[in-house]
Amino acid sequence: MNTDMMLETLQEQLNHIDLELIHILNRREATMREIERAQTGDELAVRSVHEDEVAATLRQSFPALAPAAKPAKSKRTLLVSREARSVDTVLHIKDAVIGGGANCLVAGPCSVESYEQTRKVAAALKENGVRIMRGGAYKPRTSPYDFQGLGVEGLQILREVANEFGLVTISEIVHPAHIETAAQYIDVIQIGARNMQNFELLKAAGDMRMPVLLKRGIAATMEEFLLAAEYIVSRGNTQVMLIERGIRTYEKWTRNTLDISAVPLLKQKSHLPVLVDVSHSTGYKDIMLPCAKAALAAGADGVMVETHPDPASALSDAEQQLTLEQFAEFFAGLKQSGLYRA
Ligand code: PEP
Ligand code: MN
Repeated sequence: MNTDMMLETLQEQLNHIDLELIHILNRREATMREIERAQTGDELAVRSVHEDEVAATLRQSFPALAPAAKPAKSKRTLLVSREARSVDTVLHIKDAVIGGGANCLVAGPCSVESYEQTRKVAAALKENGVRIMRGGAYKPRTSPYDFQGLGVEGLQILREVANEFGLVTISEIVHPAHIETAAQYIDVIQIGARNMQNFELLKAAGDMRMPVLLKRGIAATMEEFLLAAEYIVSRGNTQVMLIERGIRTYEKWTRNTLDISAVPLLKQKSHLPVLVDVSHSTGYKDIMLPCAKAALAAGADGVMVETHPDPASALSDAEQQLTLEQFAEFFAGLKQSGLYRA
């Protein structure tokens, strides 16, 4: 048999098989309809034990039957990303500047405990040339029995003292309903590590038109961190700063593990200012200065550190807060290192 005749025979065979197939499939379809009529509920009462094999064989013979490959998910360009904005975001908060080449130091007590305590810290900050004071009024504590903060009274103390010494204030807000009131007293809203993925809080901060300091979550990836920032920026509030505050690892000698790689990574991926909190990341006074130096060497725009007039009596984070004298030494050491650009 020559090739042409062979091909003609094969063509006829294929046509015949396909007609048989149509016939068989129609018979199958009719049987299925009978099953549907015979059954009582919606679930099929009878199924072929060969159903999956038949489907697989059909898909093999007729590739067009295979489900179409899902189109690749298009990657959205985040507003916080370098692709969206190549120049660094620089925040001007009163006379303080965050980002854009100069470094900043944010310092203050873990919690605002009293007018006297806060005033002593503010005076020390002023004396040392620090412009930005932190102090918690709403404290997200691990135990419900621990000091929860003075609330609005704490914010009022911060405002009064900041006015006296001409300081910019940062304080943590833990509930969306507190933001509007807090805005009357403070200059920067802090969103803490535990609330980094409190999406309603992020949305409320995004609806404000004031600076937000967003802390990295205890177990947040870089992507999650930037997406949290995106929640704020996507609602029109572009004044966002990121702060690495350590992540939880198996290490116990430090309170958390300072992820120094987060600094250059965030600076590469995002145009937002990046700070490093050396108090909560280490929890260990002796290594705060070298860690602050490492942060600046890695490209951080600023550093945060906690200080208290009498750390031993502090109502929160007593072990990690520097005395005012230790704080002065810390800042002097940072400036002497040549890494701190005033
Ligand atoms: C804080 O800054 O006082 C604080 C509670 O920090 P974090 O949210 O990083 O634990
Ligand atoms: Mn603290």
